[in-house]
Amino acid sequence: MTCIKCGKEIPEGELFCASCSLNLQTEAEERLGTVRPPAPSGRMQKPVPVRRTPPQPMGPQVQANGGKRGLKTALVVVSLLLAASLGFLAWQYGNILVEKNRLRTQENNLLVRAEEADAMQQQIDDLTQELDDAEQLLAARAENIQQLEKQLSGSQSSQNQSEYDLSTAQGQLDQLTEENRQLLTMTEELEEQVEALEAEKKTLEEALLATKPYVEKANFMDDYVVFVEDDGTGLYHSYDCEHFTKSKFWAYSRRLAEANGYHPCPLCGN
Ligand SMILES: [Zn+2]
Repeated sequence: MTCIKCGKEIPEGELFCASCSLNLQTEAEERLGTVRPPAPSGRMQKPVPVRRTPPQPMGPQVQANGGKRGLKTALVVVSLLLAASLGFLAWQYGNILVEKNRLRTQENNLLVRAEEADAMQQQIDDLTQELDDAEQLLAARAENIQQLEKQLSGSQSSQNQSEYDLSTAQGQLDQLTEENRQLLTMTEELEEQVEALEAEKKTLEEALLATKPYVEKANFMDDYVVFVEDDGTGLYHSYDCEHFTKSKFWAYSRRLAEANGYHPCPLCGN
């Protein structure tokens, strides 16, 4: 016969497959769905020393009468031997059942552990894959970080430049503001001066306006009135001439002086 589990050849009468340790009897019972009372059979029967009592030859009655006690004793001995053998058999079979169950349990445990090992290997594979992915992600992020640091460095230097420019511009603005303030002050002062000058000018114009009649009068007198000193020169002068001493003189109209034979002074021309 062949094993229904592993397919190896099994000698007839064997209880276990030598290759996969399958319990052939239990397997057969489970497949049949019947539970037979345990009975020693097959190989297990072989090592048991079953000694069938050989058929007692029926001797002559005389001998039977004489050896009746011996026969009884022999029967008792044989019965005891048989009982001992049966007990030994039962004990052996119990040991076998226990060993069988232990082997099946071990086999099941091994199968479970093999499945667990497969599952763990799968988990390890998955974790390794995740680790690879994470490492790739990490490398990509490190690359990103480097690029960002470069950009940050660049923008920091340009920011420094901008801050420097801003500071310079601020300085220039401050300077211009100060100059502007000084110019405003100067402008205010100049405006005050202009106001003062305009006021002075107005005063002068008023004063000039006030002198206007006297000026007209003086011009009129200069145009029409001349003076002749009593010095025998025969010259006539204007009021402002330095030769006119105003000590002893005559006043004429210009036309009358010329009519009387006087001539204009060469210095004052009139
Ligand atoms: Zn004169």
